[in-house]
Amino acid sequence: MHEYSIVTALIEQCETLAKQHQANAVERVDIKIGLLSGVEPHLLSQAFETFKLDSLCANATLNIRIQPLILQCNDCSNQSEQSQRTIICPQCGSHHTQIIDGEDMMLMQLELDTN
Ligand SMILES: [Zn+2]
Repeated sequence: MHEYSIVTALIEQCETLAKQHQANAVERVDIKIGLLSGVEPHLLSQAFETFKLDSLCANATLNIRIQPLILQCNDCSNQSEQSQRTIICPQCGSHHTQIIDGEDMMLMQLELDTN
């Protein structure tokens, strides 16, 4: 499953950061999931609960923030936040738009236990 490989990579990333900061454990993991990333938050958190057990994240809480789609219009320069998949500018109806955010999944913040 897609989410499993994402979680494996995420946990590796957390462990690398934890080691860099001489931390014994990760307490909290904050991530953002773009609406268009194709990642299912529910499946991701399930996979995290399973895979974290053998890692420095064993006791970590996963916080997921859903990042709406941010659309920048090339015609009227309007920037809008979309809760649905669209490329149409809500202000002028143009489809000459760029997606600024909402397409990826990112690790935002870690809370580490350094004691
Ligand atoms: Zn526009």
